[in-house]
Amino acid sequence: MNAFMRAGALTHMMIGHNHESVVNVQPDWLQELPLRGRLSVEEPMARHCSWRAGGTAERFFEPVDLADLVMFLRAAPPEETLTVIGLGSNLLVRDGGLRGTVIATAQAFDQINWRADHTVHVGAGVACAKVAKLAARRQLGGGEFLAGIPGTIGGALAMNAGAFGYEIWGLVAGVETINRRGEIQSRPASAFQAAYRQVAGLDQEWFVAGILRLTTDPTAAARVRSLLTQRRVQQPLGLPSCGSVFKNPLGDFAGRLIEAAGRKGARQGGAYVSPKHANFIINDGTATAADIEDLMLSLQQHVVQQFGVRLESEVRILGERAAPVATL
Ligand SMILES: Cc1cc2nc3c(=O)[nH]c(=O)nc-3n(C[C@H](O)[C@H](O)[C@H](O)COP(=O)(O)OP(=O)(O)OC[C@H]3O[C@@H](n4cnc5c(N)ncnc54)[C@H](O)[C@@H]3O)c2cc1C
Repeated sequence: MNAFMRAGALTHMMIGHNHESVVNVQPDWLQELPLRGRLSVEEPMARHCSWRAGGTAERFFEPVDLADLVMFLRAAPPEETLTVIGLGSNLLVRDGGLRGTVIATAQAFDQINWRADHTVHVGAGVACAKVAKLAARRQLGGGEFLAGIPGTIGGALAMNAGAFGYEIWGLVAGVETINRRGEIQSRPASAFQAAYRQVAGLDQEWFVAGILRLTTDPTAAARVRSLLTQRRVQQPLGLPSCGSVFKNPLGDFAGRLIEAAGRKGARQGGAYVSPKHANFIINDGTATAADIEDLMLSLQQHVVQQFGVRLESEVRILGERAAPVATL
């Protein structure tokens, strides 16, 4: 990053009464910190979320590597709210925005090290699809289901992402984490409790890498192709969404319940329920985060009223709602 870009990231244009001035809006603890990654203020999170909607992050930091992140964490005061994200494919940031710093991992932590014992050490910022495809090319199986999950390994570890009956924690031999003090730890899978789309065991810390255990399988590439075809047939891919919005209730499917409640195609502002897959909400390009969240609430109400089942969000909703616009 050149000096101009850094200066641009550290300052913010204020437009006042008939004059413009450039003021530094970063807090004291960030001044003079020689970070190499991009740091910005009021970053539109729609750029970083697959729903392409939502508010801004007060601060946004893309470390270039682990050392850059460690420097940032050591300087951050305890009261600074920190949110680590991958590719934002399971995130809704409310229109009122997110306080503190969002740390994006997808540009850093991009190393993949294949080991002779069929394990692979993968940085948290590596895309799941890349791991599945490279593994299949090496005739390693077990991770084929990751091919269609459009997030990072870090996001998948945090969510216990899964598909077609498989979940990522079924492959995990161990992980590396970093905490608020910038300390890195190697931990076995047994230190975490993974369940359906949730993982317990992280305490003010984040994944920086995962070690996945794969198996020799010459048919892995064919299975990746077949699972991707299945997705293309069943899901509205290529449109702004977050994949499945709700978790499947025990013994049923959220999409089936929403469809049975007659809500396919239902709309709220610029957000609508996909006619192809009722558990997908699509942004038509004009949706606010409130449109999406309100549509989710309305789907939950319809399903609970008609079937007595309370749908639970799979999507992580962060930040504050926008303040209502004052009317005269
Ligand atoms: C078209 C489509 C299809 C999808 N299909 C599937 C599917 O089949 N199965 C499935 O499980 N999901 C699916 N998803 C949802 C999503 O891709 C997964 O949840 C994915 O694992 C999220 O990864 P991410 O990097 O985008 O995480 P983000 O959305 O950026 O973050 C998700 C959560 O993880 C946390 N997080 C991110 N990185 C880290 C880290 N390094 N350490 C600690 N916490 C972290 C965030 O704070 C947040 O709470 C789909 C989404 C889309 C858009």
